Amino acid sequence: MEEKVVLVTGGSRGIGKEVALKFAKEGYNVVTNYVSDKTDKEKLQKEFEENGVKALVLKADVTKKEDVENLVSKAIAEFGKIDVLVNNAGITRDNLLIRMPEEDFDKVLETNLKGTFLVTKSVTKYMMKKRCGSIINLSSVVGVVGNAGQSNYSASKAGIIGFTKSIAKELASRNIRANAVAPGFIETDMTEVLPEAVKENIHNQIPLKRMGTAKEVAELIYFLGSENSSYITGQVINIDGGMVM
Ligand code: NAP
Repeated sequence: MEEKVVLVTGGSRGIGKEVALKFAKEGYNVVTNYVSDKTDKEKLQKEFEENGVKALVLKADVTKKEDVENLVSKAIAEFGKIDVLVNNAGITRDNLLIRMPEEDFDKVLETNLKGTFLVTKSVTKYMMKKRCGSIINLSSVVGVVGNAGQSNYSASKAGIIGFTKSIAKELASRNIRANAVAPGFIETDMTEVLPEAVKENIHNQIPLKRMGTAKEVAELIYFLGSENSSYITGQVINIDGGMVM
């Protein structure tokens, strides 16, 4: 069988790492990136390769076009194609609107939304040549319903939904699917920083009474990347313990 290749942005930790590990366990070669100097690149590469696949791990900032083009061209040079793209890299800079510095608005939009645009544009070129591909973008339930203190983040995640639906329409004729995943609260570094009282309040809003795990999100993303979801495109799929119905 032909080897498949997944590119997951922000695969150093959290949801991105679990997604990359899930694809590796299923036999996909993995390409991933990160931005912080704290990441142990060699250790991360080994963790993916322990599953018997090849992995390419690079430092590349999704907000920088040169970094993105370098990441994608190295992936193509190494593996010849990208079958599945997961736009996962993302950040929060929470604050009430009235206190939000302009830089925090720009930084979140630049990373979450423009980063998704830059990586997708670069990868799509190669998917179009193969007339095949699946793109999964990380949105959030707050991109659907909004959240006080997250106007920048919610705007970026709502933007990702519009972006996903538009490219799903543009790329369907080339047999490329695009879907968005909208997690609720998932246990990662991003939610670890929340005060205990806020976490307690969150649990009370979730019918399943707990946060989700990165593994649970990875299972959904793997399904959307695989041929088992071959008739699903342009959708936003919530994974939130029933928080938003
Ligand atoms: P996380 O644990 O904070 O990890 C974020 C990842 O993104 C890291 O690998 C980080 O790399 C990378 N990253 C950040 N900025 C980057 C940049 N400019 N260029 C390249 N990589 C960058 O986050 P998470 O909780 O796993 O979230 C992953 C995605 O799911 C995000 O898009 C987030 O918005 C979305 N999401 C999360 C939740 C949740 O509850 N956790 C809910 C809804 C949606 P470094 O390690 O190098 O910093």
